[in-house]
Amino acid sequence: MLEDRPDGSGVEVLSARDVPLGGPRAMSVRRTLPQRGRSLIGAWCFIDHYGPHDVRGGRGMVVPPHPHTGLQTVSWLFSGEVEHRDSLGSIATVRPGEVNVMTAGSGIQHSEVSTDDTSELHGVQLWVALPDAARHCSPAFEHYAPEAVAWGDVTVRVFLGSLAGQTSPLPTHSPLVGAQLDLPAGDPIAVPLDPAFEYGILVDRGALVVDGTPVPRVDVAYLPVGRDTVTLDADGACRLLLLGGEPLGEQIVMWWNFIGRSHDEIVKFREAWQADVITGLDDGGRFGAVDYDGQPLAAPTMPGVRLRARG
Ligand code: MN
Repeated sequence: MLEDRPDGSGVEVLSARDVPLGGPRAMSVRRTLPQRGRSLIGAWCFIDHYGPHDVRGGRGMVVPPHPHTGLQTVSWLFSGEVEHRDSLGSIATVRPGEVNVMTAGSGIQHSEVSTDDTSELHGVQLWVALPDAARHCSPAFEHYAPEAVAWGDVTVRVFLGSLAGQTSPLPTHSPLVGAQLDLPAGDPIAVPLDPAFEYGILVDRGALVVDGTPVPRVDVAYLPVGRDTVTLDADGACRLLLLGGEPLGEQIVMWWNFIGRSHDEIVKFREAWQADVITGLDDGGRFGAVDYDGQPLAAPTMPGVRLRARG
C-alpha cells in the first residue's frame, strides 16, 4: 500500500506475516522485514515482533544454539526475560528496556531461552546487516540499558545511534538509529529525521497515524530518504520502535541465519556449520561452542535454486 505525498515520498505500510520459530516448542512471531518488496531499511534487515504471549506452563521461547554470520542481532524486550548464551562465553539475561547486541562478524553461535519465571513474553528480534568492510570482523556481545528520557510528552529510549539529544554508546558499523518511543494520546508530534536515513516505524501498541497514513498495530511504516521530519499522531497511548539508517548500498544474500554476498558463500557457511558443529567432533570451527543443555539446530536443506542477492 503506497500513499503518494505531494512531494512524491510516500508512507508505505509493510504488513506483518506470522512465522513459526524453529525448535520443538515453537513460538510464532510477526515478521515485517524482509518481505517481497523490501529487504532493508538502512542496514536493518530483519524485524521479528512477538507477543505479548502468556508463557506460563512452559510455552515460551526455546531457540537452541544456531549460527550467525555477517550481521548483528539486536534483542529488545517489552516484557519477560530471555537467557542468551553464546560461543564467546557470554551468558546474559535480556530484560525489558535493555538492549543486547551480538555482532556475529565472521561467525558465532548462540541460544535464546525465556526464563522459567517469565509469565509474559513480548519483544522484538532485529538484525543489522554488516557492511562488506566490517562483516568479517571478530564476534562481540554488548549490553546497554538506555535511560528513559522525557522529550516533551514522549518518552524516548535510544538503544542504537542518536535521537532527541540521546546517544547510545554501542558502536555501529553503518550510520543507524534504534529507539523506543512511548507517546501519550494528544496532539500530533513532529519527530526530526536525518534526511540521509530511511526509516521504519513499528507500532507495538496503540493506533498510530504517520503523516496522515494509518499504520495498523504490528505493521511497519516505511519512510524513504529525504525527509527531515515525520508527524506522529497517536490515538490513545502508543508504543513504537523507530528504526532507521543510511541505505546500506550493498546487495546481500540472506538465508536461514546467515548473511553473505553470494549463493556460494552461503553454501560454505552452511557446510561449515554442519561439518564443525552438527556432525563434527572438533571445536566448532569458526562458530565455537555454546554451553547449552541440548542439541544445536541443524541447518535446513538449501533450496533447489540459487539464492539471489537483494538490497
Ligand atoms: Mn539468533
